[in-house]
Amino acid sequence: MNVLVINCGSSSLKYQFINSDTEEVMAKGLCERIGIENSQITYQPKDGDKDITLVDMPDHTKAVEMVIKKLTDPEIGVVSSLDEIDAVGHRIVHGGEKFATSVIIDDEVMKAIEECNDLAPLHNPANLIGINSCKALMPGVPMVAVFDTAFHQTMPPKAFLYGVPYDYYEKFKVRRYGFHGTSHDFVSAEAAKFLGKDRKDLKIIVCHLGNGASISAVKNGQSVDTSMGLTPLEGLIMGTRSGDLDPAIVTFLAQKLNVPTDEVINILNKKSGVLGLSKVSSDFRDIEKAYNEGNELAKIALETYSYRVAKYIGSYVAAMNGVDVIAYTAGVGENTAIVRAMIAEYLKYLGTNIDPEKNKIRGEIVELSDPGSKVVTMIVPTNEELAICRETVRLVK
Ligand code: AMP
Repeated sequence: MNVLVINCGSSSLKYQFINSDTEEVMAKGLCERIGIENSQITYQPKDGDKDITLVDMPDHTKAVEMVIKKLTDPEIGVVSSLDEIDAVGHRIVHGGEKFATSVIIDDEVMKAIEECNDLAPLHNPANLIGINSCKALMPGVPMVAVFDTAFHQTMPPKAFLYGVPYDYYEKFKVRRYGFHGTSHDFVSAEAAKFLGKDRKDLKIIVCHLGNGASISAVKNGQSVDTSMGLTPLEGLIMGTRSGDLDPAIVTFLAQKLNVPTDEVINILNKKSGVLGLSKVSSDFRDIEKAYNEGNELAKIALETYSYRVAKYIGSYVAAMNGVDVIAYTAGVGENTAIVRAMIAEYLKYLGTNIDPEKNKIRGEIVELSDPGSKVVTMIVPTNEELAICRETVRLVK
């Protein structure tokens, strides 16, 4: 089966075209600046050169049209016609409490996704536009919605409730939802498979450390806690997001900076995290370089970041009454050895030492801890697009 995986942002559209039988990515790319001037599509076929085309894309329908045009292009395309696209898998950010699993998209599902718009006002409307555009251009092709929040719907109330009046949960659905669910699910399953064990017998802590970062406690195959909350701002320190802080800081800073609270939330989303702490960059490659050159704030950023991750790991050991596997994934988790090493310093009490030589490995599945360690520490590369493709095939077949 050929599956088109679509991930729509407000002005962007990432796509991968995957042969589900071989799980090979036949082509992938990105439409940028949709609805803005100078929009462009990048298209990378499996065996060809990267193709970048500047083209006017006033809306997402035009962007999807361009993706199909590239995929079926007589010279650089990977299929001969639209008929060879068997299904489309859409990444949807927020499924609220309505979706605990992926679903085939129909009118009812569209309505339910729309009802979650106020929980993810930047993402869900864009996701819906993506679905509508694909439906318009590929009528009759089955479409599947895969939610970032779905995997965490197994969290018990003690993990998802905040200490605020219960009415707010009942009336406004204020609770922890968690995100990156597709990745936490995929990585915990891959870790168990690699170790030759059944995920149902394991307690796994997944550290998804990318530009956005979250951590989850996966007990017997189910998410029992995770660090992101009502929105993806809570939890770990991230590239540009603050993660956890005293909520009173919001009004305190609004007064000091003489700006509305919305602007403070914007600062906490876009100008904080390791970018704000280091004053260097949100990119860990830049921060690591600055750290190696003796930059004091880069050191503080790395230490503060790693300390927060280690504290979360400790709390999830308590949440699950133990841990068998700690799995690092996503851009930073898979590549940044210094962060893994700093976190490991706090975890020696668990009986998990990581081998400094193995810790140099990047982006491949590997056991970092000494053989026979009580707790296995691993790198497990994530692949959210492949996970969406697999979910799409599971439902469509
Ligand atoms: P992601 O959101 O998973 O794509 O992760 C993005 C972040 O991962 C980047 O901002 C970098 O900080 C980090 N990253 C990606 N590749 C590398 C690498 N080769 N070495 C160090 N950090 C990396």
